[in-house]
Amino acid sequence: MKFLEDLNPQQRQAVTTSPGPVLVLAGPGSGKTRVLTYRIGYLFNHFGFQPGEIMAVTFTNKAAREMRSRVELLLDLDVTASAPLRGMSLGTFHAFAARMIRREADRTPVNRDFVIFDESDQFSLIKQILKDLNVDAKQISPNKILNIISSAKNELIGPESFVVGNYFEEVTLWVYQQYQQELRRNNAVDFDDLLFLAVQLLRDDEALRRSYRDRYQHILVDEFQDTNTAQYILIRLLTGEDPDLFVVGDPDQSIYRWRGADYRNVLRFQEDFPQAKTILLEQNYRSTQNILDAAMGVIDKHQNRQRKELFTQRGAGSQIVTHEAYDEVDEANYAIEMIASLTFRGEVEPGDCAVMYRTNAQSRLLEEAFLKAGLPYRLVGAQHFYGRREVKDVIAYLRLIHNPDDQVSLLRILNTPSRGLGDKTISTLFKVSEGAGISPGRFLLEFGKGGNAELHSNFSRRAASALFDFGKLLDGWRSMGSAVDLGLLIDHVLRDSSYEAYIDDGTEEGDDRWANVMELRSVAQEFSGLGMTTFLEHVALISDQDTLTDEQNAPTLLTLHAAKGLEFPIVFIIGLDEGIIPHQRSFDDPEAMAEERRLFYVGITRAMDQLFLVRAFRRRMFGTSNVNEPSRYLNDLPSDLLEGDVVGLMPKEQAAFRRETSWAWQPEVDDLEPSFRVGMRVHHPKFGEGIVMETRVDHDEEEVTIAFESVGIKRLVASMANLELLDDE
Ligand code: ATP
Ligand code: MG
Repeated sequence: MKFLEDLNPQQRQAVTTSPGPVLVLAGPGSGKTRVLTYRIGYLFNHFGFQPGEIMAVTFTNKAAREMRSRVELLLDLDVTASAPLRGMSLGTFHAFAARMIRREADRTPVNRDFVIFDESDQFSLIKQILKDLNVDAKQISPNKILNIISSAKNELIGPESFVVGNYFEEVTLWVYQQYQQELRRNNAVDFDDLLFLAVQLLRDDEALRRSYRDRYQHILVDEFQDTNTAQYILIRLLTGEDPDLFVVGDPDQSIYRWRGADYRNVLRFQEDFPQAKTILLEQNYRSTQNILDAAMGVIDKHQNRQRKELFTQRGAGSQIVTHEAYDEVDEANYAIEMIASLTFRGEVEPGDCAVMYRTNAQSRLLEEAFLKAGLPYRLVGAQHFYGRREVKDVIAYLRLIHNPDDQVSLLRILNTPSRGLGDKTISTLFKVSEGAGISPGRFLLEFGKGGNAELHSNFSRRAASALFDFGKLLDGWRSMGSAVDLGLLIDHVLRDSSYEAYIDDGTEEGDDRWANVMELRSVAQEFSGLGMTTFLEHVALISDQDTLTDEQNAPTLLTLHAAKGLEFPIVFIIGLDEGIIPHQRSFDDPEAMAEERRLFYVGITRAMDQLFLVRAFRRRMFGTSNVNEPSRYLNDLPSDLLEGDVVGLMPKEQAAFRRETSWAWQPEVDDLEPSFRVGMRVHHPKFGEGIVMETRVDHDEEEVTIAFESVGIKRLVASMANLELLDDE
């Protein structure tokens, strides 16, 4: 088998080992994903297994697509006619679970037209529930509750087994119960439910379990260290005692603890399958030795970790570049200028470069900098497209047409564009339909057909007629049914609801919004043959890692989390400041801090040839300017690998000199006289009252440190903070 020649001996051993439980443990870039792909090829070619018997789970839809095409290439199949691999289950855990629930819907609490609620749907549901329970959303944060519910579900803890020990947990349980009821009433599930329901199906029905086990004889899992309990149990239910189960992973790269991932599943696996073969891969094929040494410098600081060497035959490569920008704008510009100059010299393609950051919010400035420079970029992140208001509106229309019980979608669009329906009418609608024992969506459908006439009197004449019109429209769209193509259906919806006039006000942003709607229409069009169900499922399952809108040759902007499993010749990691990476939210939690470190490790090991680590001396947010310390991780990098100008990484005298001489292009201004004095009482529009603790003039700006009663100590730029002096003693 010729393709085995592309593998080193350990890799080949992993690929060709006889069927059974196999665990491949290895560092980044050592070919785990490659081995998994080749294993699929080998299962076909050597053992002659059928595509339908194979289930391969990867972390993102993009990875799944890539895997499919790699297997096709390996086997020399015609890639355009992917028929030979039809029937192979290749995708994310969630996609697999969604398909299974759809198929077995009559054994689940939802019917097969169920919709998947995304984060904002979930959030509005929780907020509504808190409101109904008369709980102040300011005291109990909906997000916090959502996180707890999500963690519970990932541990397969339903409301009935949720243990409470204090008042907060009692409220949470209460909300959890209501939340599940509401989901079911909406014929909806959330992401975590997908796994939960799939597990329940298999756990409670032995015959079903057996039929699935028979069907999926060979299961392969990439990024195994990031599976959570629900995912692990799902795998266990799909496998018998001695399954052909091939998992690959790297505990040092586990970065989804906050989504319930538990790298200890690696240990569980070894306990559950004592006969498992464990194969270690050693050589890294991705990065230069300098990059690997930097990565080891970072990860070796981990407590209780066995030291593992990363080595490559690629040679040392160039130095790691560190750079300290003046502020976050300058930081973004630096990355863009470097990319521009590297590509200008013809050394790299724009598409070879990636800029990574810790939080999604950091992408905005990068985007702006790219736009200003007139350079294209690819942004990986849901906000880019599927998070846009207009896109969500149109999807809500489709979801409602598909599933009239979906109240969240109904609420979103019932008065969007405005139909003159106020809050009062809408809450009456919900009450009246509840009284009639049906969902408000179905109520409107009947209304639109002239039914429920006796209930008209609950509404004002105007409201009743608006509701009637809407019901009629909804009925009309529904009756176009699956026969019509999705693009046409969207056209009807947009026309009948006058959506274009609503969203496109003639401004540039309006045109943009309309362009997004049209973009969605063209995505929908592609799904026409496959039907609305598939389309809506696709939309719901596109995780934030997956929204690459096109494959143009341009730099990629993405979070460190989204970068998992990927590789790029040139990598920039920006925001290497204390508080950003490691994130300040993690400061008090050692486990979370360990994960921050692994996240940085994942980032470094994405780089093949060159790595740039960038920070900003000062960062400004909401008028608050913070002078940050360089990230502690920078000190863990072996200094002989570095070149660049981060102050903390230089000898002291040189650093002091640089402080005084850098940013020379800033206009020279005489230092200001401070306008605040220690002890003054001030008022800030957002933080309220506080007392000045310290004031300092730096270049042309005055920075004041203020202790606020509400939020504690903040450092602000006086000229921007809108401070009001309360008294002048
Ligand atoms: P990560 O932990 O980051 O997911 P990984 O272990 O999955 O990494 P791969 O992505 O499979 O690593 O491989 C890293 C790179 O090395 C890829 O470009 C892959 O094609 C290449 N590679 C792996 N094994 C070999 C080999 N034996 N010969 C040549 N190139 C290889
Ligand atoms: Mg991989």
